[in-house]
Amino acid sequence: MEAKAVLSQRGAQAQKASLYENVRWQYNKAADLMELDKEIRKILAMTENEIIVHFPVKMDDGHIEMFAGYRVQHNSIFGPYKGGLRYHPSVDIDEIRALATWMTWKGAITDIPFGGAKGGIQFDPSQHSHNEVERITRRFTFALGNNIGPEYDIPAPDVNTNAQIMAWLLDTYLSTMPPHERQRCTHVVTGKPIESGGSLGRDKATGQGIVFTIEEWAKDNNFDLSKATYTVQGFGNVGSWASRLLMSHGAKLVAVEDITGAIANRNGIDSNDLARYVAKTGGVAGYQGDNPISHETFMKLKADIFIPAAMENQITTDTAPWLNVKVVAEGANGPTNPDGDAILKDRGIDVIPDILCNSGGVIVSYFEWLQNKRSEFWELEEVDSKLRKKITRAYEKVRDAAKEYNADWRTAAYIVALTRLEKVYKERGIFP
Ligand code: NAD
Repeated sequence: MEAKAVLSQRGAQAQKASLYENVRWQYNKAADLMELDKEIRKILAMTENEIIVHFPVKMDDGHIEMFAGYRVQHNSIFGPYKGGLRYHPSVDIDEIRALATWMTWKGAITDIPFGGAKGGIQFDPSQHSHNEVERITRRFTFALGNNIGPEYDIPAPDVNTNAQIMAWLLDTYLSTMPPHERQRCTHVVTGKPIESGGSLGRDKATGQGIVFTIEEWAKDNNFDLSKATYTVQGFGNVGSWASRLLMSHGAKLVAVEDITGAIANRNGIDSNDLARYVAKTGGVAGYQGDNPISHETFMKLKADIFIPAAMENQITTDTAPWLNVKVVAEGANGPTNPDGDAILKDRGIDVIPDILCNSGGVIVSYFEWLQNKRSEFWELEEVDSKLRKKITRAYEKVRDAAKEYNADWRTAAYIVALTRLEKVYKERGIFP
């Protein structure tokens, strides 16, 4: 469907569309095009389980605060539910439903034996002490109880959560297990610190996967990455790793934006040095006197590659006309809404869609889970080469589906995922 038709159909209202509505829009578009079985279509349009917990936590000064935590399990036909945990004021059931659904598609595209889930707590961790964040994490884990588990539902890091938070989650979960079961449960969570059972390469996995898909795109387009310029939105786990790894190809980072502001430098910004600065100061603002720029200037900046790696709904009717790049490599989940997509398509800007581009995280989470189950510890080279193989295979499948269906890449990625899901539902049938 062409951009104008989408815009008139969805209208200005679409700007306010919920994230889950965006997912449903993308899903229906792909399901129509591939003629997904109408019964299976009903199943995949809904989540399987939605858990909301309200739990009290004692603050440092002794007063009690109540928190709302979520875990949505979208689908488990391929294996245990899998997906990150997000700590952010925007977390609500709608956002977590959308993120859980995308996890199902990611597992399906990359051929890993996981279903889709996502969770989070609605709060701003920057407003709490280290000890409060620990107690909030532990109490949330306790409240979830058996709704997570190493063979059932496996959390991982996402926005504002990291290896330390996974270690607290692991410790709390194991502490509630009978002693003789504890040692076989370390794969209840992935993205753990290495010493607590994490995998080499998990920290950089999402960024590494993004760069592997950009390499494939460059090959397909006869594009020389060593001469490329790029901009990155979000300089946390995903954005900073993608940026550092792309820099090692010789590509030049010309602008970065995060929650603290945006900076630009036509001569290039050293991603490694910037990562050290952000670790110290908490954001990119004020880095080395680089030129501070507005959000609008950042989004309009000319570059070859744009990597959104922050939050959702950044590329919309308002901002898609601004972009001055050849390709958008989606590190974040849902950075482009359907209207933004239509505008990018009209303007000939390629998109490597989130469910393919950022799937390196869940792929290496699967490797971590396997290593824990088998009591193995893989070398980094092994992790990286297995990741490259899996994500490249997924990239090729999406590229082939885009040709076969004459579809944009997001729709093609959905078709790859839905084709696999449709096949397995047809094989297994519906109980009873
Ligand atoms: P993070 O918390 O490590 O970093 C988030 C970054 O986004 C920070 O630099 C923050 O300052 C910035 N940010 C937040 N709000 C912003 C705004 N309004 N404008 C500009 N910048 C803003 O989170 P992360 O793990 O890097 O996740 C980033 C994105 O990647 C999310 O969409 C997440 O769902 C997705 N993702 C993460 C993983 C993973 O393994 N961590 C895997 C797949 C996808």
